[in-house]
Amino acid sequence: MLKIPQPAYVSLRQYGEETYPDECCGALLGQFDDNGSEAGSEAGSKTVTRIVRCGNTRADSPHNRYHIDPRDLIRIQREGRERGEEIVGFYHSHPDHPAEWSPTDLEEAHWFGCSYVITSVEKGVATITNSFELAGTDEDDKKFVDEKMEVV
Ligand SMILES: [Zn+2]
Repeated sequence: MLKIPQPAYVSLRQYGEETYPDECCGALLGQFDDNGSEAGSEAGSKTVTRIVRCGNTRADSPHNRYHIDPRDLIRIQREGRERGEEIVGFYHSHPDHPAEWSPTDLEEAHWFGCSYVITSVEKGVATITNSFELAGTDEDDKKFVDEKMEVV
């Protein structure tokens, strides 16, 4: 379960509209609520406190790929820690494509237990927003599982 405050939810959807027809991307900061995250059970829920917009560095194919600059990520992580926040997930948009993860999205996802939020932007208007949690223990058995998202 991913809990996200209304303003952050609105903002991440708007970002997808602003960058249309390119993909937008960013990070979700907050806290892992840390219950039931033992092996075999579902990971605990997460609460988003803030979203950070990132530049899409995929200049070669920005309409269907996204990439967050690793230097951006390190900075975001450091600034978050100073405020008691952790990276709990990432988000990006799918211009004129469904809000479902692609094989490339899975391939490029490496943060286990984190949420990957995808917003479909149809003709410049944000429609469906879904969240998926990266489950598994390593690159060989990783998979996305549907995650409930609650706007609070
Ligand atoms: Zn994608």
